[in-house]
Amino acid sequence: MTTTQVRAACPHDCPDTCALLVTVEDGVATAVKGDPDHPTTAGVLCTKVARYTERTYHADRLLHPLRRIGKKGEGKFERISWDEALDTIAARLKPLAERAPEAILPYSYCGTMGLVQGESMSMRFFNRIGASLLDRTICATAGATGYKYTIGGSIGIDLEQFQNAKLIVIWGGNPIASNLHFWTRAQEAKRNGARLIAIDPYRSLTAEKCHQHIALLPGTDAALALGLMHVLIAEDLLDHDYIAQYTLGFEQLKQRAAEWTPERTAETCGISVAEVVDLARLYGGMARAGEPVAIRANYGVQRVRGGGMSVRSIACLPALVGAWRHPAGGIQLSSSGSFPTNKAALQRPDLLKKQPRTINMTTIGDDLLRASSPEFGPAVEAVIVYNANPLAIAPDSGKVMAGFAREDLFTVVLEHFQTDTVDYADIVLPATTQLEHIDTHTAYGHLYMMANNAAIAPMGEAKANTEIFRLLAARMGFDDPCFQDSDDQLAAMAFDARDVRAVNFDWESLKRKGWQKLNVPDAPFAHGGFPTPSGKCEFYSATMAADGLDPLPAYLPPYESVASNPELAKRYPLAMISPPARNFLNSTFVNVKSLRSAEGEPHLDIHPDDSAARGISDGDMVRIFNDRGTFIAKARVTDKARAGLVVGLSVWWKKLGRDGKNANEVTSQQLTDMGRAPTFYDTLVQVERVAA
Ligand code: SF4
Repeated sequence: MTTTQVRAACPHDCPDTCALLVTVEDGVATAVKGDPDHPTTAGVLCTKVARYTERTYHADRLLHPLRRIGKKGEGKFERISWDEALDTIAARLKPLAERAPEAILPYSYCGTMGLVQGESMSMRFFNRIGASLLDRTICATAGATGYKYTIGGSIGIDLEQFQNAKLIVIWGGNPIASNLHFWTRAQEAKRNGARLIAIDPYRSLTAEKCHQHIALLPGTDAALALGLMHVLIAEDLLDHDYIAQYTLGFEQLKQRAAEWTPERTAETCGISVAEVVDLARLYGGMARAGEPVAIRANYGVQRVRGGGMSVRSIACLPALVGAWRHPAGGIQLSSSGSFPTNKAALQRPDLLKKQPRTINMTTIGDDLLRASSPEFGPAVEAVIVYNANPLAIAPDSGKVMAGFAREDLFTVVLEHFQTDTVDYADIVLPATTQLEHIDTHTAYGHLYMMANNAAIAPMGEAKANTEIFRLLAARMGFDDPCFQDSDDQLAAMAFDARDVRAVNFDWESLKRKGWQKLNVPDAPFAHGGFPTPSGKCEFYSATMAADGLDPLPAYLPPYESVASNPELAKRYPLAMISPPARNFLNSTFVNVKSLRSAEGEPHLDIHPDDSAARGISDGDMVRIFNDRGTFIAKARVTDKARAGLVVGLSVWWKKLGRDGKNANEVTSQQLTDMGRAPTFYDTLVQVERVAA
């Protein structure tokens, strides 16, 4: 028997981007372990990827191209050959590409985070056609935009510093479920005497393990940040020297923060005055004493109308107290802006003959149902879905389903499994998993460039995304040399080796070593140097003013809350959020039986006061509904959800739920204040008991 160990990288949409060691015995992957030598992975994987062979060799893997033989949504297919599949697709796309190329739409996201199997050959293909561009907003653009206005880019505390912090504020995230290797370091900090505070409407697994949990109302994070600023300024818990040298607009910020007394803040956020004042005193007092104070902001805060402003307001706090002076101080939202990726080389926007329109992936529900018009352009006639499962993950799911059910829409899906989206495909193409192809990765939680070697041969007739788009390009008659680039060649151009941060980057050595840390400073803004237009942390942003936004941090109430929309709240009085379930990663892993068994079935956490008012007992089946739709889940009566809030951990495949639906039946297509992002946690619903 030949046994080898192959260096790989976790491809999933998780900040940790772990280094994997895959044991291969006679061509079969028998174990996937965390690499003990990789400093942030440290030999530990989450439960999802520790079972990766179960997913790779799953009996339900798609192993051959398929053609639909039933109605859209029925999920009935017959096996066809690759030649037949590619010819069918080219026959549909060719005339469209000549008549109305923007009628072709790619739909993809982070089913893999790989730079090669994500957006490289695929984008070349769509750019060459002149297809509609896709605004990939579904997760992070609101916060990234707010952070960029303030800090200048997605740069923050190095993960490898958090264990040295003395106060860690975990704001809008549940790292035990979705940022495990940060949590490991937060626990180490705790053992070293740090205080951990969770800010989250829901008492998550993480919030339960922190010293303090501040359960604010969903969508009120900016108000809390402004209230903290008020106290910091009123009690002079500031770093005047840092403010004077490295920030812009303090006087204007002072006036804005003056409006946010602890009383107003507490009322807006649904928390106590003491929670506001005590947190500000702790944060400012520790920073003044020279202790490193850190904020780990996460995506929970930005899935509401004011999501961008929430992140922007939080991101102002470290500069006020000079927290950036210490390597373990400041804030981390994402480390993605630290990487010198060479997207133009990978994606070749120069192949575009003219700038096409852009369609927002968040509003796919409406946009698939739009007719041709001068404003919109041509109706969408073909969708190519890869690395994504829009039927399960896009908001306002009833409309998404109606769009994909259009008989005149030609849909191609590249997938590993028969997801909810595959059920609506005309042609299904089997794609390789991470163990079967080459890739290279950035991360959004650490600072390592990562390599993924192919550990095993492709399963069945599966092909890598890159190869599928190469073959499609050939069928379309595209003879540009860029469609000949191999995956190794693509990986080799993924990072700009001339950039000082990727110094000495060389793909062949990265493949051998598995990872390489970026050459970046430990405390990125200890001496200013923010990549903003002014080079300072911008409390006042002229760019925002020019973009038609409030140039100062501000609180924007949710579209849907009891306070902001009392008329709607008469019918739908409960706020609903749908954060990630621990054993799923967005909609990935839901079909892995052991992981699904650990989650049980779709649940709705509801506070005892709210369940009693509706005659609901623990374990009852309940219907959750609003004007957009309805879905069924099992009630868990618990004070983990504050009164007035219900929580449906997600994202379940619709077909695995009791009624073929999931939480996105009730979420809306309204967009955030900036970044054109979704507002999943800006949702009012009503809940009622139904017969089991
Ligand atoms: S999902 Fe996250 S924690 Fe789990 S193995 Fe992948 S990168 Fe690591």
